[in-house]
Amino acid sequence: MLARSGLVLLAVWLGASPALAEDFFVRNQDEYAGALKQVEAGDVIILANGEWLDFDLVITGKGRADAPITVTPEEVGKVFLTGQSNLRIGGEYILVKGLVFKDGYSPRGEVVSFRRTKNDQARNSRVTEVVIDNFSKPDRYESDYWVGIYGSGNRFDHNHMVGKTNKGVTLAVRLDSEESRENDHLIDHNYFGPRPVLGSNGGETLRIGTSRYSMHRSETTVENNIFDRTDGEVEIISSKSGGNVFRGNVFLKSRGTLTLRHGDDNIVERNIFMGGGKDYTGGIRVINRGQTIRDNYIEGMRGTAFSSALAIMNGVPNSPVNRYVEVEGATIEGNTIIDSRRIGFNVGADDERSAPPSNSTFANNLLGGIEGESFLEVYDDVSGIAFANNRVVEGGVADSLDSFTKAPVEMERADNGLLYPVDPALASLGAPRDLTPVTLDQVGVSWYAKPGSGSVFGASGTVTTVEPGEGTLVAAAMAAKDGDVLLLSSGEYIANRTIPLDKAITIKGAYEEGADAPSILFTRPTLIELREGGNLQLESVIIDGALAPDSVGNSAIRTTTYPIKSNMQIEMNRVTVRGLVVNKSFNVLTLGKSSLADRVSIKNSAFSDITGAVVSAAAETEDFGQYNVEYLDITDSTFAEIGGPIVNVYRGGRDESTFGPFVTFTGNAIAGTGLAATNTSGASINLHGVQTANLDRNVVAASAPFRIVHTVGTPKTSITSNQFAETPDLVLEELNYEGAHRAQLSDNVFAEGNDK
Ligand code: CA
Repeated sequence: MLARSGLVLLAVWLGASPALAEDFFVRNQDEYAGALKQVEAGDVIILANGEWLDFDLVITGKGRADAPITVTPEEVGKVFLTGQSNLRIGGEYILVKGLVFKDGYSPRGEVVSFRRTKNDQARNSRVTEVVIDNFSKPDRYESDYWVGIYGSGNRFDHNHMVGKTNKGVTLAVRLDSEESRENDHLIDHNYFGPRPVLGSNGGETLRIGTSRYSMHRSETTVENNIFDRTDGEVEIISSKSGGNVFRGNVFLKSRGTLTLRHGDDNIVERNIFMGGGKDYTGGIRVINRGQTIRDNYIEGMRGTAFSSALAIMNGVPNSPVNRYVEVEGATIEGNTIIDSRRIGFNVGADDERSAPPSNSTFANNLLGGIEGESFLEVYDDVSGIAFANNRVVEGGVADSLDSFTKAPVEMERADNGLLYPVDPALASLGAPRDLTPVTLDQVGVSWYAKPGSGSVFGASGTVTTVEPGEGTLVAAAMAAKDGDVLLLSSGEYIANRTIPLDKAITIKGAYEEGADAPSILFTRPTLIELREGGNLQLESVIIDGALAPDSVGNSAIRTTTYPIKSNMQIEMNRVTVRGLVVNKSFNVLTLGKSSLADRVSIKNSAFSDITGAVVSAAAETEDFGQYNVEYLDITDSTFAEIGGPIVNVYRGGRDESTFGPFVTFTGNAIAGTGLAATNTSGASINLHGVQTANLDRNVVAASAPFRIVHTVGTPKTSITSNQFAETPDLVLEELNYEGAHRAQLSDNVFAEGNDK
């Protein structure tokens, strides 16, 4: 190791012998800056192990193919860029490897940028074995890219990216300058790990180009990457340019699709999509001219419409660049699509998207839907597609696809984990036998763990018994570690301060035969405040508002007023909440601005004498298509004398990039609810812009009506087998759709006394 003076001496010595490549070992940003002034082709700058805080790491220069300029850690996995850090690369033949970005975020528009400045874009450079772990801007709606690739001939490979929670594409290839088109970039063997639902547009994992430059060819190859639970929005990959190749990538339980959104002549081949039966999983969405979709394997998809296993869209005649160019000259052959909910032709057909596919072929595909469900659907004219030798093994087929052979085929799983027909005579159908899915140990880096999939609750295995009394619960909650369980016995627990929750904890009553559940009282306006990292599970406890003070915006549980990056989970089972009456709008749970719950789940619980809402998820009122809860499930619970709506969910705007919110409200009993003068919605259930709602088997007495407002897209509302007495009729509105309300209603009983 060299001292600071040693670095200077080394530089002088290098000046005397410029032909010799040399290592610059640097221990701080000043030493780095000194080394940067000296580097030449073949030189290596070595960053000392440890934390590099607030580091604007810039590298540029002229390397050569046989002698790149390299930035590397002393040891891989032991150099951390934290705080407000980022990497910018200019010049040519630069190699950067082995860095970890964590505990911070980029102060710029990118974490890793293949340009130093607008006029110094990287060429023939490579970033490999770099980790970007939860390096998201704090405000989920402040946008950046984690990786921006500019210039030409660059490679981005074996990198690990997990947990982008703020708006903006994880990896964007930019074509906004002449030299960045026909770029021949290679993006390979990366691990695109879980990206949570963003709850707005801008949650794509990979985007190549933009509509503005989509007439240009990018010629980027995306190969052998894994996309694991990349759920951000409806597009996992948004290809917005021509001449790209997507080959051999594996998509695991990822919502959305690989979308050929703009640009022509792209190839999508030998990719593997495994949906695992998860909601909204999809495969490939086809738009534009000259697209080739061949030899792909797609299994276990549950998406429909835009997120079907395969969606071939209708286009707009003479489409402007930002709309939908018609499908022309598509070749779709040799694909297996099995155990999937939908394949759609002419998807999106409407007055504007009126141009069906033309001059296209669809051949040798092996297709299987779900037993008893419709599968292959046609929404317009398919006469411009030549169909040949397609086999459907399961699921309903639209009449206009009468050339398809419909017959079961015996399938077996081969050594590569994929299903193939047993009968050798059917070998020409579907995906090829020689697919070899890239595996998790072949992507990203070996020295940084890939995230598992366990529940956040109880994960630590630690159970702590908490005795009744004043302050005991607060002390235990603050001392608890992520994943701990706090076990309460019968008796009163009084909280004299709000519990700040920045971890996953379970608060659970120890169930004893004949004993009362423990009751929790609180003397502050809020019992629990959810902060960054907070997740809450309540079980077999009573929350009683008797000691709460009168304060504006009282809520037993609420999110902090600061933005929260990570999506949270809130669960209640066998919970009683009562007596939140000290003022006129006391909520049980309030989700505030810039927070998103992945799931709020309430079951077997009882709520009574509450002046406000039970779940308020209506803070994103700017109509940007943002919202506060993805899944809200309330089942088998009772609600009596609730002043506000039980559920208040708001998602405004016309954006179509999200799947949620998704609301289930079934098997509940409701009485005297939604009638407070302060309830401006006038409803007991108030759903605005919810994409999927199931309201089933509820018994409703002397309450305000259910109110469902549909906004964009094709919302699915099902209201079935409910009983309403002394409750006004359903209030159903459509904001953008002309025609009768699209809610499916059946078997609802309206007793006399309803105000029709
Ligand atoms: Ca999008």
